[in-house]
Amino acid sequence: MRVDGSASTPPVDEQPLDLHQAALDHLWIQRGYAWQDSIPPDGIIVMESGEGCYITDSAGKTYLDFASGLWVANVGYGRTDIARAMAAQAARLHYTRSPWPTAPTVMLAARLAKLAPGTLSKVFFTSGGGEANETALKMAIQYHRLNGQPQRTKFIGRDLSYHGASFATMSVGGAHILDRSVFQPLLMPQATLIPGPGHPDKSGADASALERAINEVGPDSVAAFIGEPISSSGGIHVPAEDYWPSIREVCDRYGILLICDEVITGFGRTGKMFAVDHWSVVPDILTIAKGVTSGYAPLGAAIARSEIAERFRPGAAEAFQHVLTFGGHAVACSAALANLDIIQHERLVENAAEMGVYLKASLEELRRHPSVADVRGIGLMCCVQLAKDRFSGEPFTPDERGLLDKSLFPKLLARGVNLLGSAERIVFMPPLIVQRAEIDEAIRALDAVLTEVEKEYSWWH
Ligand code: PLP
Repeated sequence: MRVDGSASTPPVDEQPLDLHQAALDHLWIQRGYAWQDSIPPDGIIVMESGEGCYITDSAGKTYLDFASGLWVANVGYGRTDIARAMAAQAARLHYTRSPWPTAPTVMLAARLAKLAPGTLSKVFFTSGGGEANETALKMAIQYHRLNGQPQRTKFIGRDLSYHGASFATMSVGGAHILDRSVFQPLLMPQATLIPGPGHPDKSGADASALERAINEVGPDSVAAFIGEPISSSGGIHVPAEDYWPSIREVCDRYGILLICDEVITGFGRTGKMFAVDHWSVVPDILTIAKGVTSGYAPLGAAIARSEIAERFRPGAAEAFQHVLTFGGHAVACSAALANLDIIQHERLVENAAEMGVYLKASLEELRRHPSVADVRGIGLMCCVQLAKDRFSGEPFTPDERGLLDKSLFPKLLARGVNLLGSAERIVFMPPLIVQRAEIDEAIRALDAVLTEVEKEYSWWH
């Protein structure tokens, strides 16, 4: 393969393919956010190339991607340094099985140990975020077992959070992105959900909700609490300063492991390398994915504190009962190393902090719209919330929201701006390389689209 993406050997199937038709016929499009349901069946957009903060479709239309894919592409598109590193590793040795790691796998583990706070230093690689959280949950159960507390098998998670699509990770989250009720009989009865910051049930604003839940289910039976430092699916509500330190304290007091899911927030998204760094909190297990490679290759990890990892031993009885074929894949780890080089050399964490202040201030100006009820976020993780009545915060019914989404997001796309979310949460998570001019471009588009949709609905007249 050449780094420009052209093939050096001819493809086996020489028949020209109608990509739009083939996508409709054969590709199981994975459901993402609500607006995707509004794309007409004959309107699948096939993307072809990317550069910086922009992606271009097969018809040549360019979009400013303020969703970074699915909140993944932290260093932006078209990074040939990452492509070169991956190509070189694939040519040298693309894969080995555990326990024979390749150099990039070891180097990445050491690099992550250095970047992660406190004694978080032992890295279990996975292929993505859900697998990383599944790994962390299993690690917590086996840790307690090895620690002489096999009865600790329960988890506490937060309603509206998203930790993945597997049975276990769906059990500890309650995001509306996926309908849990479809799988309800198979979800873990050991999982209890509590409200988090910003939840309509205001009791989740502080750590007392966790303490109550621990006492209800039985303090000696809880293995771990899992939460995103700032939940994207929960509405990007930045918690109060003492929320995470208090959660840490409650977990310590009851001997419960704290798992922080930094799948979205990790690698600079919030203006710090990890979001927990805002509060100097060190979880027992920190999970990562997305930004670790900026999506150039699928990769995730559960990073454990050394005190946790030391309980596990190589022998059959004490080894972690968990193994993944692609954990620590050599090419993915090479992509991650090159990606982290870019993040650090180009000071993208600092840029996220600086541009985040500009983004938030620019979004605040949209409050002049009668539809805008709230603007919130931190770093390059911000959102605008619409409401029927911005003063009372009167929410939309599901039908009203559906109609509004079908109007709002396609209008943004038509103006060449890709934003994800729903009317209740229009999410701004651009690549961390973003500059003021691109922020201005995205805000101009939303400003114009809000003016248009406000004319469509009587609530805003
Ligand atoms: N955790 C969080 C916070 C996420 O946002 C996601 C996916 O968006 C996941 C976990 C699951 O990651 P994956 O889709 O790579 O399994």
